[in-house]
Formats: sequence, C-alpha cells, structure tokens
Amino acid sequence: MISSVEEPPFTTGLTWYAGTLPDHISPSAAKTYLGCSLKFYFERVACIRKKTPSALHLGKAVHAALQAFHLARWRGTDDSAETIAAAYEKAFSDLERDEGPVNFKNDGHREEVRLDGLRVVAAYLDSPEAMKDKPRAVEVLLKEDIAGLSVPLTGAMDLVEGNYVPVDFKSAAAKPDKAHAAFDHEIQLVSYQLLMEAATGESPPSLDLVFLVKTKKPQVIRVSSPPADAHRKRRVTALLETAVEGIASNRFHPQPGMHCSWCQFRNECMAWLPGQLLPERKTA
Ligand code: SF4
Repeated sequence: MISSVEEPPFTTGLTWYAGTLPDHISPSAAKTYLGCSLKFYFERVACIRKKTPSALHLGKAVHAALQAFHLARWRGTDDSAETIAAAYEKAFSDLERDEGPVNFKNDGHREEVRLDGLRVVAAYLDSPEAMKDKPRAVEVLLKEDIAGLSVPLTGAMDLVEGNYVPVDFKSAAAKPDKAHAAFDHEIQLVSYQLLMEAATGESPPSLDLVFLVKTKKPQVIRVSSPPADAHRKRRVTALLETAVEGIASNRFHPQPGMHCSWCQFRNECMAWLPGQLLPERKTA
C-alpha cells in the first residue's frame, strides 16, 4: 500500500518533546542520530533513563582522571600518580552518586571495574603518550558557525597539544584496528578540525585518538589521522546537516543492525509503531 501524505511511513508521532530545529549539532549527537534515529529519540528527546553501563562509567571516571592530569600539566600543579589516582577514585564515586545507578552485577563486579580503571590510568601515566609538555588547552568547548551547516557546530575536545593537534581519549575493551578506528570516528575528528580552524584559523597537523585498552596488561595506543582535505570536510558537513534536518523534521524510526546487540532500548523499540506515544520519563 502506498502511504498517504497524512500518514507517511517514517513519521512516528513520537515527537511531542522535539518540535523544533536543534539550536546546535555536536558530532556525538549526529553520530547517534545517523546510527539509529529511534535510539537518538529515546536517549535525547524522550530522555528515557537507563542504568549506566559499567564500561561507560569506567570510561567517564578514567576521562576525569586524565583531565585532572592534563589540567595539572597546564597549571604546573601536582600531577603525581597518587594525585591522579585520587582524582579517578573521586570521579568513580561521584559519578555513581550523581549520574548512577550503574549496572554493576554485584559488589565484586564493581570492585573489578574500579581496579580496571585504576590500572588503565596508571598505564597512561607510564606511557610515552602521557603529556610531557604544557598542553595548549584542556577540555575545550567550542561553538562555531560552519559553512554548509544550518545551525552552529559544537564540540568538546579532551586535549589540544601545543602544535594544535586535538586529542580524544577512548576507553576500549580490545586493541583497536587503526584504519577502522579512524574511519569510525571520522565525524568527530573532522568536526574538531572544522571547529579549530573556525575558532583559531590554525589547521591541525593531525587528528589523534588515544585508546586506553583495558586488557589484562593495559595498553595505550595512539591513532593519528591526517588532517581532512576539502572532500572530507564537505562529506562530514553533509552528514552533520543530514542529522540536523532529520531531527528538525522529527524523522525517528528503527534502524536495525549489529548495534542493536548493545542497545538498551530494545523493549521500547519492539513496542514502537508509527503514531505511538511513549510513556513519560522513567528509570529502568
Ligand atoms: S534496538 Fe536497534 S533499531 Fe531499535 S532503537 Fe536500538 S539501535 Fe535502534
């Protein structure tokens, strides 16, 4: 059957929170939207709360510890391993209190996750990747108008090295394939370049990811990509704008794939039908 204009196949009706154009777009929002627009809707429009996955909780605590280290390097204050470990412990507890609950299986599992994070932080501080010089900037929040984008682009860079290289840190369970990792994070990396060029007029010599791998013996692996040329910038800008247009048009629908294996919204997704409304905010 051909759908009528009044009832197009991909108009969900699940949109009473999201009637307006987003006032900005970030690479993470665009990536989530382009990966599965219905998951984006559940997470960021309906704001259905779920327990924080333990791996995400660990990643956030490790991120806070690295931020403390880089800020100490920037300020010239105490960046000892003990101080940074204390920053990790504090973040691990504070995040659980403020953003939890976390889906730990039990107390033993919580302890395992906590120790995994401590080992990863120690491995970074011991590695050649640990910042030796003063960074140019730490936790940089930028919002810039970009040609081809109908709303401003926003982004938060973990670290900008002295030569304008933006660095993003990723916690990972397994060693990344370098080519795949750069491709997978293309929207984020190129967005950072667009933001930096718009904000400073400087072009970064490379776009870097540093993976903190939670193997038994943690590994720290840097993946450097060349800066984007005009083609890559146009491609990423078009992807970002596709997300903006989709969100503004309330296009939210299931996009099943391998990513469904780790999606927390499978029950809501199975219940989805065009025109169906969701329950109000809830915690699962
Ligand atoms: S289960 Fe799959 S299709 Fe459904 S919302 Fe999650 S990612 Fe999207």
